[in-house]
Amino acid sequence: MARYIFITGGVVSSLGKGLASASLGALLQARGYSVRLRKLDPYLNVDPGTMSPFEHGEVFVTDDGAETDLDLGHYERFTGVSCRKTDSVSSGRIYSDVLEKERRGDYLGKTIQVIPHVTNQIKEFIEIGDDEVDFQLCEIGGTVGDIEALPFFEAIRQFSQDKRGRCIFMHLTLLPYVAAAGELKTKPTQHSVKELRSIGIAPDILMCRSEHEIPQKEREKLALFCNVRPEAVIAALDLKSIYEAPLAYHREGMDRAVLEAFNIIDAPAPDMSKWDDVADRIFNPEGTVRVAIVGKYTSLGDAYKSIAEALTHGGMHNRVKVKAEWIDAELFENKEDNIAARLQGYNAILVPGGFGERGTEGKIKAAKYAREHDIPYLGICLGMQMAVIEAARNLAGITDAGSEEFDHESGGKRFTPVVYHLKEWLEGNRTIKREADDHKGGTMRLGAYNATLTPGSKIAEIYGSTAISERHRHRYEVDMSYRPQLEAKGLKFSGISPDGKLPEIVEYPDHPWFIGVQFHPELKSRPFKPHPLFSSFIKAALKQSRLV
Ligand code: GLN
Repeated sequence: MARYIFITGGVVSSLGKGLASASLGALLQARGYSVRLRKLDPYLNVDPGTMSPFEHGEVFVTDDGAETDLDLGHYERFTGVSCRKTDSVSSGRIYSDVLEKERRGDYLGKTIQVIPHVTNQIKEFIEIGDDEVDFQLCEIGGTVGDIEALPFFEAIRQFSQDKRGRCIFMHLTLLPYVAAAGELKTKPTQHSVKELRSIGIAPDILMCRSEHEIPQKEREKLALFCNVRPEAVIAALDLKSIYEAPLAYHREGMDRAVLEAFNIIDAPAPDMSKWDDVADRIFNPEGTVRVAIVGKYTSLGDAYKSIAEALTHGGMHNRVKVKAEWIDAELFENKEDNIAARLQGYNAILVPGGFGERGTEGKIKAAKYAREHDIPYLGICLGMQMAVIEAARNLAGITDAGSEEFDHESGGKRFTPVVYHLKEWLEGNRTIKREADDHKGGTMRLGAYNATLTPGSKIAEIYGSTAISERHRHRYEVDMSYRPQLEAKGLKFSGISPDGKLPEIVEYPDHPWFIGVQFHPELKSRPFKPHPLFSSFIKAALKQSRLV
């Protein structure tokens, strides 16, 4: 039976609850325990799949095809444990499940209420897989006091009563520094804890985000007013890199405080060597490479969170610092724009995924520039599709090549669809019933799929294998019938779905490094196990930097 750690937030949002939870997971692992992390989000969307990246940041896709919150990306990166569909839930999902049960008559005519029906549904969710790990960490999204989060707080309060002795609460707050007084202020934290206690939850541990060390006097004050032990007041100071967090929080006593709260006195000492190595690689790079990311959602860093992290991991593998610079693809669509001037000086170009036509002509130009100037190019999902359209237009002479996605969007037929909608293939291949298939994403290929790589290709060399599995999230596919035409011009289809129908990877063997992948490799990269594609891409960028 697992022990439960509930992580809540107070004072303000965006304090890094996801990172704190992920780091705690990593610390418990370092002490030899198994962990699972879970996110409970108060918003009413059934899942983040339909939310704009501008609203919610990246949609993180799991192996089993769930579209989830980007915090699950942190969980995976810090613990290496692959998340599942059952590790992410929203109020919308909970209510929708309760209402479905009500319609089915499962409640036998009872009046359906937030307590107990909604809270029971939440508790059942929290408990899934209780016998599989030593610790389940459940992060509650939002901040205490949010109206829509109340059923979650009530559910975890009840849960801790049902499972006395097996639950603790960690509360993340902010200690603002008031320069005029030269002091860290504890009042907002006191109020936030008061709010928590008014709904029946008494935190065992306070994680305090702060720009300064917390003086002993303030620690004692917090302990006294918030009813925790002074050792359970953990400082979470600003860090140069997120990957420093497990080491920093360990120094502050986070894991010790958690174990003490559970009365665990015989825990093994942590083995932090993995994180020492990660920190060493981050803080002692032996060079820098510049990567241009030509995308659409460039004004919001979180929209491509996993790509930014995977690039960092690739840099760590090669012991270089990766300077990723975001360029709005739409800039290249302006006829006067001098694309060469804009892309000159970068050691590699990455075109990430995206939806809709806006910016795609710019991405096609970026792919052309990379191909013609021998700049390493990594195209991910839409970035692969754009590289194929570029080759079709400029090498194979299909001058009006395009994607059905853009024709669907505009309602007119303007392109020869080199990239087409995969509805029929999907319908014939729904071997695994995926929940996401039921909603708007119904026509999407979501989650892990296998691919077979051509022996001797660059991609097979990079993976060191000819059989791989990667995560997908897209509706459209490169049309296999253009393979002969494109291969004759040098663009090889070096990875295909095992049934031989869907192109998964394209590459130019005579280019220093030009690869397009239909999947999202960034989702599986870890700081201590960088994804081979990103390691190889950064290696190519490093090589390019030495040529100029
Ligand atoms: N819009 C494209 C598709 O649906 C690409 C999706 C993506 O890049 N994730 O196929």
